[in-house]
Amino acid sequence: MMRDSSTNDSCSVASTRAGAILTIDLEAVRANYRLLRATGAGAVCAGVLKADAYGLGMAQVAAALVAEGCTAFFTAHLDEGIRLRTLVPPAATIYVLHGPMPGHAAACVDHDLIPVLNDPGQIAEWRALARTLGRALPAAIQVDTGMSRMGLAPADLARLAADPHWLAGIDLRLVMSHLACADEAQHPVNERQRLNFEAARAHFPGVPASLANSSAVFLGDGYRFDLLRPGAALYGINPQPGSPNPLRQAVSLSARVVQLRTIGAGDIVGYGARYVAPGPRRIATIGIGYADGWLRALSGISYAWVDGVAVPFVGTVSMDSVTLDVSALPEGRLAPGDTVDLLCAQQTVDDVAAQAGTIGYEVLTRLGSRFERRYI
Ligand SMILES: *Cc1c(COP(=O)(O)O)cnc(C)c1O
Repeated sequence: MMRDSSTNDSCSVASTRAGAILTIDLEAVRANYRLLRATGAGAVCAGVLKADAYGLGMAQVAAALVAEGCTAFFTAHLDEGIRLRTLVPPAATIYVLHGPMPGHAAACVDHDLIPVLNDPGQIAEWRALARTLGRALPAAIQVDTGMSRMGLAPADLARLAADPHWLAGIDLRLVMSHLACADEAQHPVNERQRLNFEAARAHFPGVPASLANSSAVFLGDGYRFDLLRPGAALYGINPQPGSPNPLRQAVSLSARVVQLRTIGAGDIVGYGARYVAPGPRRIATIGIGYADGWLRALSGISYAWVDGVAVPFVGTVSMDSVTLDVSALPEGRLAPGDTVDLLCAQQTVDDVAAQAGTIGYEVLTRLGSRFERRYI
């Protein structure tokens, strides 16, 4: 059998072919869950696993959270919930944030999922299904407290709640809402939404309540209620931008050098000739690009890291490759097949997001499917 001489670690020959390697630290996810649960001081801590657990992998993250004793999960779409149902113990609770699309309520029952009912139509459909099946069906209800995205508008809630039978056949497990500005602790909208939520809860005596996403877990006791719904913080995104991040980074990413070259003054690099070398430069081309979620907006402004040295992106990020100016490294430090770091201790998901003018959520959820994934 042919041996690949570059394979000097535990990875298989095949694995060395990938252009980039994404390492997901499940112990960090678990530690972040423990920290969130401890901060929640008595509230139940669920895990939000929508969008393939923000790109980290729903199956692996679910197993890690189950091992920490997590028993409640949220997905956005019904199909995500159906998949998650196969990955967690039967006793685990799975909420589907979007609720069922019209005509698909029965699938929630079939797969033991709890829909979050967001509008009068979803509530009516759930009630009708309960009547048809002749038994009460579990559900959560979301109320809109000011974000105007999902949930019952206050007027709809008041109108519906005037009918004593409005929840007939609905076994209401949770009333919830979502904050628009939780990552800005001083934002006045937070307190306004909290008060609106308190008012809405009056329609649901004795029903457990949930308001807090990751950031709101850190807004104080008044925001935590009975159930926390963190996603981003589990995956290491800073819930309080501007303050030190109390959570552990859960992903690291390195990309392989495909080619090295030396260029001279006046030579251009990449599409659009956006970089013109001011003098001799050593250029490394790495095997990751915008098709892998390494955003084109990072062109010319992000870095890769090698031995603690930041090597800048030069030229435009291509679909499958990025060009780096590695002149600051000792000559011969890099050879084709070597790796450079893109997410590492020196450059977090939040750092890359800031460079690209976006948020860590978007960086994580864009992480592509061509990486070799390693779980530790
Ligand atoms: C995505 C989402 C969450 C999780 O938010 P994070 O900021 O990632 O913690 C919680 N609740 C709702 C309704 C969501 O859509």
